[in-house]
Amino acid sequence: MANLSLKHIYKVYPNGVKAVNDFNMEIADKEFIVFVGPSGCGKSTTLRMIAGLEDITAGELSIGDLVVNDMEPKDRDIAMVFQNYALYPHMTVYENIAFGLRLRRIPRDEAHPNGKFTKEEINSRVLEAAEILGITEYLGRKPKEMSGGQRQRVSLGRAIVREPKVMLLDEPLSNLDAKLRTQMRAEISKLHAKLNTTFIYVTHDQIEAMTMGTRIVVMKNGFVQQIDTPKNLYNYPGNKFVAGFIGTPQMNFFEGTLKKEGNSVRIRFDHSEAEITVPYSYFYKTRPDYLDGEKKVVIGLRAENFSIDPETLKTADARIPFKVSHKEELGNETLVYGDINMEGDGYVESTTRIIIKCREDVDLVSGDVAEAALDLDRIHLFDKETEVSILPRVPEYNYLDCEVEGGKLNFLGQTVELPPAIACEDGAGELLIPSDAIYAGGPIKAKVVGTEKAGELELCNLELGGRRLFAVAPGEGVEAGVGIDMKKIAIRRGEQEIVHPMPLKMRFEGKMTKRKETEEVEVKGKKKNKKVIKFYLSIEGVEFPAPAFITSKLIAALTAKRVFETALSFECTPYGLVPGETGIPATVERILDYGAEKFAVCRVGEQEVYVKAEEELSGEIFLTPDFNTIGVIQTDMDIRIV
Ligand code: ADP
Repeated sequence: MANLSLKHIYKVYPNGVKAVNDFNMEIADKEFIVFVGPSGCGKSTTLRMIAGLEDITAGELSIGDLVVNDMEPKDRDIAMVFQNYALYPHMTVYENIAFGLRLRRIPRDEAHPNGKFTKEEINSRVLEAAEILGITEYLGRKPKEMSGGQRQRVSLGRAIVREPKVMLLDEPLSNLDAKLRTQMRAEISKLHAKLNTTFIYVTHDQIEAMTMGTRIVVMKNGFVQQIDTPKNLYNYPGNKFVAGFIGTPQMNFFEGTLKKEGNSVRIRFDHSEAEITVPYSYFYKTRPDYLDGEKKVVIGLRAENFSIDPETLKTADARIPFKVSHKEELGNETLVYGDINMEGDGYVESTTRIIIKCREDVDLVSGDVAEAALDLDRIHLFDKETEVSILPRVPEYNYLDCEVEGGKLNFLGQTVELPPAIACEDGAGELLIPSDAIYAGGPIKAKVVGTEKAGELELCNLELGGRRLFAVAPGEGVEAGVGIDMKKIAIRRGEQEIVHPMPLKMRFEGKMTKRKETEEVEVKGKKKNKKVIKFYLSIEGVEFPAPAFITSKLIAALTAKRVFETALSFECTPYGLVPGETGIPATVERILDYGAEKFAVCRVGEQEVYVKAEEELSGEIFLTPDFNTIGVIQTDMDIRIV
């Protein structure tokens, strides 16, 4: 039993393939995690790094409280089950299961004078595992005398007897036929419940992922796309890839445009006459520039969120016509295929094909033109180019019209004094307030119309001046009033951003260095000189003693040989740069006064640097990074090491 932590994990193979990029995840004890994605997405590589079968290029992997990057696989207290069983053909099932235990070294004590499990212990573990897996009667057989499903049980048995902290399973069911796979799926879930161990399971099969995982990691091209529960992945996919990968039949994707007209939005479907007008309230979370009637979007709706039921059609807010091409009768349900382009072909996947899941009898036949009702609550929208959701569960920004007038900002019927840090010419503009920049305890009286739980986050829905505002975890007491963290806002006028948010991340260039130094030590009360090697971080040409945890991470990631030649970037926030007597020389150019907080804008070489100014800062100063919050990145590959 153990929790796992993967921090900024990367894998670059010697041939240069970047198989895993910045994988971050905290896995709780006893979770059943599934890594899923198409072939080559990096899921096995990640699993093999956890197992210790593959070196970690950069990042930190912990099992329990131990960093295990450099720990041998056999010492990691994990067990792995593979697709190809990897059983010894000349041994019986019993021997196969017992084999690992016989070889295992354990601490010597009275009961184990030779540092090995006793025969009785091995026997009882093998019998117990066989019992759990229902293979007791086959213990005397050889693997070749067993079916694929039974062999996979044996390899599970071999893993179980080790009583590992973590069970890793790499596509264990892919050699089995469909029926057996379904059965084994259930058995593995049962096994997980019984063993109370953390499971990590790799598969390319989304159904396996959805039915077994407590949480699923969807991967593509070495990048994590989304980590969430099966239900959340299904209902709130963060991009079109996840939306299309999870669920059968695949989500319908249409291309089109959205145009806001008063309190409605007109949705036009490309290559089709289909057009619907729906209340704007469905699009509160969408960025206004997607509602201009021009920007191309992808509209996603699952097959079960269409209906051809006459009663539903009668009362539906929105309907679109389609031409039927064919049906798939699956007994309990029928999939109706068609096209919203009357010239289209519902047999091939396209941006106008529609698949509708029907529970009721369908008397439509090929060539019929019918109508489908849309369940607008379930609509998904994606940017056509980036494929990122533009109707996200948690919107990053609130976009509002605003007017600047004599140092005051007017929006949604409110007038807020602009702080001295923000100088802006009078005129109209678009105000961007990040949803994490609205906090409880300010002067703006907004009506709380609801809160949503989005994973760990609490999203507060506010109404102000007839508009909806979203605030991420604003804190207690929103009812009494909210404020806006002005350093995070932006104002746009036309194409231009005339007020920028203050940068909250800055990067400095540097590297790690070492020096031999003489240190005075006391040996038996006498002072002696000793030669020691000291490590430094050279940041913008200034050397700082390297904290031990950073040194060890850098050496682990880059090896002692390369570590001193590698260009590094150091990432700091304005709160992580401390002015003092020594450090990186900087010249204070001006002070940004946001009212509640002040920041010094400093010049360091060519770069503008922002520093939290607790006291008045001016002239030449020196900055020391806070090494507890600093980020260290290998510059060339853009790999985060700390
Ligand atoms: P998956 O398990 O998702 O199918 P893998 O983790 O096996 O994907 O592979 C991820 C990427 O890394 C692929 O592009 C694959 O070709 C590459 N790769 C895997 N193993 C090696 C290796 N030993 N050497 C070089 N490239 C590899």
